[in-house]
Amino acid sequence: MKCGDTIKLTNRQEEIVQIVKTDGPLTSLQIAKRLSLTRATLRPDLSILTMTGSLVAKPRVGYSFNEQKHISLQAEKYLKQPVCEWMARPVVINESTSVYDAIVQLFLDDVGTLYTVNQSGHLAGVVSRKDLLRSVMGNQKLGELPVSIIMTRMPNIVFIGPDSQLIEAAKKMLEAHVDSLPVVQCIDHTQNTYKVIGRITKTTITRIFREMAD
Ligand code: ADP
Repeated sequence: MKCGDTIKLTNRQEEIVQIVKTDGPLTSLQIAKRLSLTRATLRPDLSILTMTGSLVAKPRVGYSFNEQKHISLQAEKYLKQPVCEWMARPVVINESTSVYDAIVQLFLDDVGTLYTVNQSGHLAGVVSRKDLLRSVMGNQKLGELPVSIIMTRMPNIVFIGPDSQLIEAAKKMLEAHVDSLPVVQCIDHTQNTYKVIGRITKTTITRIFREMAD
């Protein structure tokens, strides 16, 4: 096993962790009896659980639960999940949409950011709440002003691929000081053309945090 690799525990290993967590320290014989298994059958599972650090083995005492290590392993499991498993539906508008209609769309879909696409349907830009507020303060004719004038546009958009890890998405959002990232599929890297297939927001990361705690 490489340093930093995450091992996904099997159902039996999770069960062992639960038993030791509740009633530990327990010897391998006691754990085997609880699961109606032989010690020999249990040995590989116990080796994996001690190797990963979920359990600590002490001679003449038995196996105890290593709470801190277990929590960090669980957290790591979440943070390394692919973005595509958590991404939300993106709200996409054409870059020729008026600022007025974009504001309506923002309310209708109850989101903070809209993604814009060009005539070919490729990612063109991002319009956030502040972008819209700024144009409202400019007192312009919102029904006639296209969002393409006020949006942040390609190639300055920070995005992420569906197979990237969630921790990557969190880092990118923090580094770019933005609330969301479009999840994109590359159409042509040399032409900078991408199709928007989802969105990851700070709310997504908060939701994962809550699920980790549960
Ligand atoms: P808000 O405007 O509601 O605070 P953000 O913090 O996400 O929302 O946006 C701040 C600025 O960054 C806006 O001008 C917006 O167009 C731009 N922006 C938002 N998301 C991205 C992104 N993924 N890549 C590049 N720029 C972005």
